[in-house]
Amino acid sequence: MSAPAAGNEAAGAVGAVGAEPVSVTVTGAHKRFGAQQVLAGVDLEVPAGEVTVILGPSGSGKSTLLRAINHLEKLDAGHVEVGGEPVGVRRHRGRFKELNERAILAQRGRIGFVFQNFNLFPHLTALENVAAAPVATGRRNRAQAREAARDLLARVGLADRAGAYPRQLSGGQQQRVAIARALALEPGVILFDEPTSALDPELVGEVLAVIRDLATGGTTLIVVTHEIGFAREVADTVVFLDGGRIVEQGPPAQVLSAPRHPRTREFLSRVL
Ligand code: ADP
Ligand code: MG
Repeated sequence: MSAPAAGNEAAGAVGAVGAEPVSVTVTGAHKRFGAQQVLAGVDLEVPAGEVTVILGPSGSGKSTLLRAINHLEKLDAGHVEVGGEPVGVRRHRGRFKELNERAILAQRGRIGFVFQNFNLFPHLTALENVAAAPVATGRRNRAQAREAARDLLARVGLADRAGAYPRQLSGGQQQRVAIARALALEPGVILFDEPTSALDPELVGEVLAVIRDLATGGTTLIVVTHEIGFAREVADTVVFLDGGRIVEQGPPAQVLSAPRHPRTREFLSRVL
């Protein structure tokens, strides 16, 4: 489940999410599924308040990396820190011990996750989708959560759709609800896994506009996307992942316009 909750800004104005943005550090991440090495030593540093766009071919490990950051996937080796705090483990007498489920859920509340396929609760309205996690986690009472959810829906341009069920909304609207839901727990970082790949082309822009607003507001964002124009405009850093390794990273002007690695060049020639 992804999280979300309380923005305190009214309609349309997009500022910081509410929580302080946090940094994300991935060190030596290794992950294998069966015989396949899906992450083969990934080191990634995302400073607080910055936007990192991850590019890479299908199967290169992008989703696995995001899932590891959110502790939906356990690494074989390496570790993740969010806001300087290790994810999924705690230090105990100089050693790492696994966190229990409750502590993991608490950590996950600081990390918003937006999925390719929205993953809204089909039996809940837009408002209820956004208000659910803050109530379930005890962060807000029902009335507060609903009020905050209204603000968040306004912020993603859906003030008038609060009572609609997901099936009554377009894909772009559903994804904007999902973003409002991710904001509702006031995360310090939001992870986006191909947030526009399931959308009809004419609906991509409205979702990217919302993500762009979050970037402008200073939220830490890690965005897996094939939208190169968005990356060029919004990213502080572009990372190119291939075969479970970061083969190239740097500012968009370098990675996208003057890629150094042949694999990056080949990939860009296919998506541009
Ligand atoms: P990407 O998001 O870059 O397309 P993924 O991280 O989803 O790549 O997957 C990388 C590789 O790991 C793929 O070959 C995929 O089939 C495999 N994989 C991902 N998750 C699992 C899993 N739970 N079990 C087995 N293989 C998996
Ligand atoms: Mg993926």
